[in-house]
Amino acid sequence: MKKDFKHIRNFLAQQQQRYLYRSPRLNHSPQQPDMVIDGEKILTFCSNDYLGLANHPELIQAFQQAAANYGVGSGAAHLINGHNIEHQRLEEALAAFTGRERALLFSTGYMANLGAIGALTSKGESLYQDRLNHASLMDAGRLSDAKMWRYQHSDMNNLQQRIARSTDTASMIVTDGVFSMDGDCANLKELANIATEHQSWLMVDDAHGFGVLGETGAGLVEQEGLSSDDVPVLIATLGKGAGTAGAFIAGDHDLIEFLIQSARTYIFTTAMPPAIAAAGCKSLELMQKETWRRNHLQQLITQFKQGADQLGLPMMPSDTAIQPILVGGSDKALCYSQQLLSQGILVTAIRPPTVPAGEARLRITLSAAHTTQHVEQLLSALGKLNFSTEK
Ligand SMILES: *Cc1c(COP(=O)(O)O)cnc(C)c1O
Repeated sequence: MKKDFKHIRNFLAQQQQRYLYRSPRLNHSPQQPDMVIDGEKILTFCSNDYLGLANHPELIQAFQQAAANYGVGSGAAHLINGHNIEHQRLEEALAAFTGRERALLFSTGYMANLGAIGALTSKGESLYQDRLNHASLMDAGRLSDAKMWRYQHSDMNNLQQRIARSTDTASMIVTDGVFSMDGDCANLKELANIATEHQSWLMVDDAHGFGVLGETGAGLVEQEGLSSDDVPVLIATLGKGAGTAGAFIAGDHDLIEFLIQSARTYIFTTAMPPAIAAAGCKSLELMQKETWRRNHLQQLITQFKQGADQLGLPMMPSDTAIQPILVGGSDKALCYSQQLLSQGILVTAIRPPTVPAGEARLRITLSAAHTTQHVEQLLSALGKLNFSTEK
């Protein structure tokens, strides 16, 4: 392709015509339900700050204290001289919280996924991924030397068939814990059985379950009562339920030592700022102490689902804080999102390629920072929209 701006301009025009053009909104507030966005006061239902910790005063204080002690930049990669005591503390706390021997920090979830899949797969092996796994997992699969197979969403028969059809050794099965754009959960017990049967790694990316699901908030793996033998590679991000930034991989001592030697996105990148790690430690403490956050969130989910049912909205089958309304066309999703905005409510339209073509949706997310009145307000605004069911 020739490097010219004509091609770029054509592409931009096409995206506009297809209702696929995207631009960031300018936000002047902390992450919380009531925000000022593009200069307007607005009630938001699209954040992944599920527990309402992103703007918690104790997190801010931990961050400030660590910045005073250790400065801002970590200065180097972990293996050079960037591994600060705050990183070490957070890794130990994450290992304890998830019930695993060790944990390893990454700067983002995207990088944790690239690092883990890159290190744990090689040529002549097969990698199996749920079709609806997060884009970072798909990209990791594309970069990997293993052959990637995508099985139908949560279809265990389809996964078994694909494994049976392949002549390579099965090396790894990878799934989102809670599917990020759908809100449903993977069948982890069945996946663990299949992985054991084929002597394959099972890796779970619990970005949307961590902090939110399970008795203590350790995530979907805890909720399903599975051990580190069942799910040897556990990944979660800290920028969602934990309200900070970064990600971690938790597992056995040997797995983590292996990743330290081999995961390129661990080795060749600057460690996250120590103050972020300090805030992460505080966040883990609050997750465990303030159990009301999970309980309240659960109540809001129930309240919302009941209200949405009464309104007859085309909801997707989800029991988590992610409650998408499936509308189909990107034009419609944008239109509904705009109509909500004119009522003072922000729910973003999620369009391809984030979701499959023809499956655009309004992705509503609830947070422990919302009140029951907020949810009533949302339901009343949704009640004023005219959802047609034809595509
Ligand atoms: C958000 C997300 C990621 C990426 O995490 P970041 O820390 O934002 O890079 C990875 N996997 C899933 C399932 C996600 O939802």
